[in-house]
Amino acid sequence: MPLREIRILGDPVLREPAQTVDGLNDEIRSLVEDMFETMYHAEGVGLAAPQVGISERVIVVDVRDADEDDVGALALINPKVLEASRAKDKAPEGCLSIPGMEEVVERPSNVTVEGLNQSGETVTLEVTGLLSRAIQHEIDHLDGILFIDRVSPLKRRLLMRKWQKSRAEEEGS
Ligand code: ZN
Repeated sequence: MPLREIRILGDPVLREPAQTVDGLNDEIRSLVEDMFETMYHAEGVGLAAPQVGISERVIVVDVRDADEDDVGALALINPKVLEASRAKDKAPEGCLSIPGMEEVVERPSNVTVEGLNQSGETVTLEVTGLLSRAIQHEIDHLDGILFIDRVSPLKRRLLMRKWQKSRAEEEGS
């Protein structure tokens, strides 16, 4: 189970809509395993396949250390939000593809999500709290959407200025 390289903001794969997966096969199974390993190694709570350069609709999440609403390690293939609550929550988010950046993002509090699990069964989950937020963030990745797209233009400008500065420092050091 090798670690995969996490793609960083600026990589075009992060902006491509990902392809629907035809079904579970060995390639997808090993992708899911590698994604879990890569996510745990990076100490993230979620990862989407485009973040490791694979433009396919696969996500993994595990919020078990941070939230009591946990279902443990969860992989979803072709995940879809069937229903989103009108009630919304605001909370800070970060992204393994935009390291060091964090901003408050507003999202529906609760969503109903459907997808294939690792055994190839269709599952429907009603999720709340951090799990709901993490799943919505990862599904966004499958549509080429990043959390910075969900903050106000002013906050996005400030974030991008900070990001460019941090990148420049990294290259300069
Ligand atoms: Zn992300």
